[in-house]
Amino acid sequence: MIIAVDGPTASGKGTIAKALAAHFGLPHLDTGLLYRAVGRQVMLAGGNPDDQHDALAACDFDDHLLDEDILRSEEVGGFASRVSVHPAVRHALYERQRAFATQDSGAVLDGRDIGTVIAPEAPVKLFVTASVQERARRRWLEMTGRGIDVALAAIERDIAARDARDMNRADAPLMAAPDALVIDTTHFGRDAAIEAAIEAVAARLIAPR
Ligand code: C5P
Repeated sequence: MIIAVDGPTASGKGTIAKALAAHFGLPHLDTGLLYRAVGRQVMLAGGNPDDQHDALAACDFDDHLLDEDILRSEEVGGFASRVSVHPAVRHALYERQRAFATQDSGAVLDGRDIGTVIAPEAPVKLFVTASVQERARRRWLEMTGRGIDVALAAIERDIAARDARDMNRADAPLMAAPDALVIDTTHFGRDAAIEAAIEAVAARLIAPR
């Protein structure tokens, strides 16, 4: 069984995907990490993320990058969003994601285009979202909790810019697949959001489309 979990940044999709993987005993891939590794590699090489040649060269990143904490930073996230605009980059990362999705055990993948491009045949698709203000508040709490001094308004601006770039790119824009279940976590706590997702998946399994 493939479970596709898509949605914008800080919507809770990663938390939900991890919880679904644990609950249903499936391997999980956070596909954003692949784009983050490309963004990080461009940074390390001193390249320009908006230049498709620099971005494509960075797709050949060393896998140890995937374990680095810095990948989770806002700065790398911004670079990831910029490199992900290039069709050549998306193409270079496709096979790796596709192979993970189609392994015999089944899989949970979270990202932006899992239900639309990577695994359109997935029997279960979730689109996890929340208001920009709430997502910025969560990111701000997380960052200030780690001792990073940052203004809420700046995070809100960054998230809105990232959303706009992800939704308006020509290739594989962020959007809910027509057959996705939308889960809005704006007014949900973590546990309630996970419970809603598990129920939604279980319901889809009992009554497939
Ligand atoms: O999910 P995360 O915030 O880690 O993703 C970082 C960036 O990578 C996103 O802003 C998006 O531009 C890109 N991305 C993508 N397709 C995916 C996953 C992430 O374009 N499947």
